[in-house]
Amino acid sequence: MQSVAQLKTSSVPRVLVGRAAVISAPREFRVQEIEFREPGPGEVRVRIEGCGVCASNLPLWEGKPWFNYPLEPGAPGHEAWGSIDATGADVTDFTTGERVALLSSHAFAEYDFARASEVVHLPASLDALPFPAEPLGCAMNIFKRAGILPGQTVAIVGIGFLGTLLTQLAARAGARVLALSRRRSSLRLAEQFGAATTIEIEYAQEAIRELTRGRGCECVIEAVGTQESLDVASELTSERGRLVIAGYHQDGPRQVNMQLWNWRGLDVINAHERDPLVYVEGMREAIAAVQNGRMDPQPLYTHTFRIEQLPQAFETMESSPEGFIKALISL
Ligand SMILES: [Zn+2]
Repeated sequence: MQSVAQLKTSSVPRVLVGRAAVISAPREFRVQEIEFREPGPGEVRVRIEGCGVCASNLPLWEGKPWFNYPLEPGAPGHEAWGSIDATGADVTDFTTGERVALLSSHAFAEYDFARASEVVHLPASLDALPFPAEPLGCAMNIFKRAGILPGQTVAIVGIGFLGTLLTQLAARAGARVLALSRRRSSLRLAEQFGAATTIEIEYAQEAIRELTRGRGCECVIEAVGTQESLDVASELTSERGRLVIAGYHQDGPRQVNMQLWNWRGLDVINAHERDPLVYVEGMREAIAAVQNGRMDPQPLYTHTFRIEQLPQAFETMESSPEGFIKALISL
């Protein structure tokens, strides 16, 4: 016979405790044990397997004045995948244990939450692979908005994670891709990923003038997020060219050469998305692209760190040594 005490404990939901990274101040961090609640209606709780470290979060680690500290536990991890740990009321698409990728914002932690509509199933064929679907979906969405056609000359300024994926997608779509970077290792990678020509960024203008017989590129994708990269990218466009801004320009206003934009009659596209459902669509397309071989992110996961090593992950990203492309945190 069960005692009253036993009956009582069995009816109380178990308290789930797990680790989470807490960025307490610029460049300061600790791992903390926290309690994770039950998922609410329409929500899932995911046991996080890993999470990418996004270059756009570097200013937050460095402590730019427009951020507030401490951050909430797990923030700003937003490139996670894992398996369903619990489902809230009204969730019918997911069952416990299924492997998924999610849109969430506190994933430098053992568990995170997402709306079921912002979670995608990962097929069994991808079981062995890390899958930070959010940035992969971002690459798919940028590629779509770039509207690249076969035979076009496309310059990609900045060969980091996004730039390399875009190189691959554009080359597979039949474009002639000119990849520009400061780093030798990135240029070699772009070549492996299908770039027709790789160019060290300081020689960009002369090289491209020569390669396009003075005409410039029908499409230029800026994938760095600095004033300098924006200037270089603008210069490389052709008349009636398309300038696609994929870099994340978050540290204040930029100057643009309006005279040049105007004279050339450029189409300028800011290729970021804000609607989560557009993101999720991109994530689904990324899964399909990896499955059918259009996109191969695997060689780009160059560094993996444990959650205790989050500072090293940020510092590696900050110094960006030769060979570094993307850091993942494994949980
Ligand atoms: Zn990101």
